[in-house]
Amino acid sequence: MTATMPAAFIGHGNPMNALETNAYTTAWSEFAASIERPRAIVAISAHWFVNVSAVTAMDRPRTIHDFFGFPDALFNVEYPAPGDPALAQQIVDLAYPGYIGLDADSWGLDHGTWSILVKMFPAADIPVVQLSVDATKSLDEHMALGAALAPLRDEGVLILGSGNVVHNLGQIQGNMPGHGTTWASSFDQAAQRIMTTEPSALSQIEADPSYRLAVPTPDHFLPLAYVAGLAAAAGTTASTLLEGCEMGSLSMTSYVVR
Ligand code: ZN
Repeated sequence: MTATMPAAFIGHGNPMNALETNAYTTAWSEFAASIERPRAIVAISAHWFVNVSAVTAMDRPRTIHDFFGFPDALFNVEYPAPGDPALAQQIVDLAYPGYIGLDADSWGLDHGTWSILVKMFPAADIPVVQLSVDATKSLDEHMALGAALAPLRDEGVLILGSGNVVHNLGQIQGNMPGHGTTWASSFDQAAQRIMTTEPSALSQIEADPSYRLAVPTPDHFLPLAYVAGLAAAAGTTASTLLEGCEMGSLSMTSYVVR
């Protein structure tokens, strides 16, 4: 009998985390080492933000280097984890009557997924599927889709949201390593209060006075909704895996649902 697998939201931040060892990447590695080995991983990455719901369904998803202006070493990172077409179909079935398309040859594993998985599971030998973040859906619809994935946790599948609670690249402060601006930290704490006490109420955060600054576009925030939905489905709350802000306007705060 497999125990229920935790679900997690990881603040991925700078793609260079894939190559560095720091307090964030150490926490990711230690979390992965602390749980039972997953049978497979479903990753919901901020970087597959499209106007459709889709899940990767190929046997060998490619590693996508979806960024510019980084060192060659980062472009050379490969994460050759196998896919899991049967799991992709299972996700389609769980979402029914909602529609999720099977992606046979379009996407793969983008850096939202592999920049954390190279630290969590460096052997790349656990099957991974990616679920798109459908830009046409509301926060509550993303939470409901997250909740619909709950049965997978009982089959040893690790569900992993990868984004950033606060993500405003236009407000980056190069002189603030390890810190957030006042509005960024306050928004991060508001989200933390909700995640750790009443995750089903996550949509209340849209009324926060800093919402527009913290979430100028919803791509990096929405993966959190999946983990909030899973917590609500389990009748539990999330716990904080790590907390902190970087460069003024990025939150690295990460959560686990057990
Ligand atoms: Zn990102």
